[in-house]
Amino acid sequence: MAACTSDLSKAYGSGDTRVVALDRISIAFRKGEFTAIMGPSGSGKSTLLHCVAGLDSASSGSVRIGATELSALGDRQLTELRRDRIGFIFQAFNLLPTLTALENITLPVDIAERDVDRRWLDTIVTTVGLSHRLGHRPAQLSGGQQQRVAVARALVSRPEIIFADEPTGNLDSRAGAEVLGFLRDCVRELGQTVVMVTHDPVAAGYADRIVFLADGRLVDEMTEPTADRVLDRIKDFDAHGRTS
Ligand code: ADP
Ligand code: MG
Repeated sequence: MAACTSDLSKAYGSGDTRVVALDRISIAFRKGEFTAIMGPSGSGKSTLLHCVAGLDSASSGSVRIGATELSALGDRQLTELRRDRIGFIFQAFNLLPTLTALENITLPVDIAERDVDRRWLDTIVTTVGLSHRLGHRPAQLSGGQQQRVAVARALVSRPEIIFADEPTGNLDSRAGAEVLGFLRDCVRELGQTVVMVTHDPVAAGYADRIVFLADGRLVDEMTEPTADRVLDRIKDFDAHGRTS
């Protein structure tokens, strides 16, 4: 297993304003698998991703990355785990505007004062199709190219697992397809593990498996999805009121 949770719960606020965002979620993410997390807005997708990636803490239950229990880690150990073992891709790219594409890609390794593995960097840059854009700054790149820089940045330290929250949310469908195809290649060809939140059936169709959340609970799962099957399943949910 690359990561797993057991009875993971997360509540925000207290008293009248208490919101249970996650309600006893037990889920495992296998190594080398591309998982999509789907569900209506507010169902807890981002919260689940943030808790598993160590960006937010659980209220109760367990989260493990590999064999490491996150609740047992201090702040500093958690920071190191995020830096060394996890990659994160955000909807808004989060590139530094004054750095070139190449400098953005190697930033996490540079911050960690590690040497960049040149062969691995070449492999990533070639796979992501950015070889001729490395000297450009983010403003000189299209949205799709910027997100591919962000994906390359997430890959450069060879993380055990990559988390992506709506990575194609700011892209048109063609650029979205490029990024999704690349993520899938990373899983198939490089053995990467990817967990992606999306509300888009087409995006989810790239995954090996989809898990569905509703009201902070795990309600369904689909393997080898296609966009059509995802759409049918969502219609089914709506018809039976399971997501409301
Ligand atoms: P999704 O990503 O599926 O849209 P979220 O995980 O963002 O859902 O949110 C799940 C629930 O938790 C929602 O009801 C949301 O309002 C609530 N929530 C998320 N983050 C916070 C926060 N920082 N403070 C209070 N409530 C939050
Ligand atoms: Mg969200």
